[in-house]
Amino acid sequence: MKVAIIGGGAAGFFAAIQVKTNYPKAAVTLLEKSKKCLAKVKVSGGGRCNVTNGCSTIRELVVGYPRGGRVLKKLFRAFDNYSTQQWFTDRGVALKTEPDNRVFPVSNQSQSIIDCLWKEVQRLGISVELGKGVKNIRELNDGALQLIIKGEAAPRIFDKVIVATGGSPKLSGFDWLADLGHHIEPPVPSLFTFNMPNETIPELMGVVAKNVLVHIQGTKLKTQGDLLVTHWGMSGPAILKLSALGARVLAEMQYHFKVQINWAAVSNQELLREELNDLATQHAKKQLRNVRPYQLPERLWLFLLQKGGLNERKPWGELGKKGINKLVQLLGNDVYMVQGKTTFKEEFVTCGGISWESVDAKSLQSKVCQNLYFAGEVLDVDGITGGYNFQAAWTTGFVVGKLG
Ligand SMILES: Cc1cc2nc3c(=O)[nH]c(=O)nc-3n(C[C@H](O)[C@H](O)[C@H](O)COP(=O)(O)OP(=O)(O)OC[C@H]3O[C@@H](n4cnc5c(N)ncnc54)[C@H](O)[C@@H]3O)c2cc1C
Repeated sequence: MKVAIIGGGAAGFFAAIQVKTNYPKAAVTLLEKSKKCLAKVKVSGGGRCNVTNGCSTIRELVVGYPRGGRVLKKLFRAFDNYSTQQWFTDRGVALKTEPDNRVFPVSNQSQSIIDCLWKEVQRLGISVELGKGVKNIRELNDGALQLIIKGEAAPRIFDKVIVATGGSPKLSGFDWLADLGHHIEPPVPSLFTFNMPNETIPELMGVVAKNVLVHIQGTKLKTQGDLLVTHWGMSGPAILKLSALGARVLAEMQYHFKVQINWAAVSNQELLREELNDLATQHAKKQLRNVRPYQLPERLWLFLLQKGGLNERKPWGELGKKGINKLVQLLGNDVYMVQGKTTFKEEFVTCGGISWESVDAKSLQSKVCQNLYFAGEVLDVDGITGGYNFQAAWTTGFVVGKLG
């Protein structure tokens, strides 16, 4: 059996390894269009490669996928984040889990992951060909697949082909796969930060507010987590997660929308009012600037007081009903205008790709072209930041390697 894997990224390497492990007699060829394989693994996680997430259950893991989670939930039974950790540690890559559950090699070098994958590919005798961009796939009458490769005069024929070409920011990047009859979910960026060119909050660049609630006005999109004020606007886990959850809706809004921040993370306004009244009673004589509610960073607290027109030297006891109402508004429903986005370069992914309508969810085999399979980001699957995207590549690579 001759098997081709198109694309030498995380999913392609893992798929090739699994195919050769499951079918030792198969001739497995990996075709990579560029001069280098695993380029994204190299730069991932700031050069450290956040290889998976350390969360403890599949239920928690699937929450990390705004798209494709339903399908992955079943595939995780075959290969989940624990399997990933086991697989790499069994092959000599020591891993560590950081407090936020991101899993990295102990070496803090993505090269450890790359070396491990290359070693496995070489041990198994998989042929890796660089500079081989596949332009087209044709289905022959006997079910075999013909690959047209850039710069090669004659097409090559394989019994099975796995496409692991990653995401594409342009719809046209999927034309060759759409031509075979696959439905494509149009690509839009996921994981980006919010630009606020007409707001003054970027003055607080570098400030981190712990555990805030973020909501996009006019939508059901909500997240909770830490927020980082940047030079351009807002970033941090709460914002990045929101950008992934809302990737399509926010693209439709052309990245112009209002974001509501609940700095107190108390969604019940009456409860918030009560807590602020208690604070005013307890610290009646202290100035507003000296008692910061909800452990807000000092710069943020002073900024909010100024934004609300409240004198920072005013004693808490003199706030009165009007002052407390103002604080309820400022802490519970602080609105900012977002105008544009910035790519989160630490972990950039696109959502969209080969639609699940066109793929068998158990085997990842194409429904329209026999003997063709898909793995990795080329599928309409993407995760939030934290190792979820590589986990999708390992899991789909593992499953597709069964050639079921
Ligand atoms: C800067 C950065 C940092 C990231 N950090 C993390 C992280 O720490 N953790 C995490 O989980 N995710 C991270 N991600 C996301 C993660 O890298 C991707 O989700 C993952 O690499 C997808 O793997 P893939 O194999 O599906 O696609 P890719 O890695 O994109 O690989 C696809 C390969 O196919 C090749 N190819 C494309 N078309 C053809 C063709 N026609 N013929 C032949 N070859 C072709 C490409 O050259 C490429 O080598 C990061 C992404 C970026 C950009």
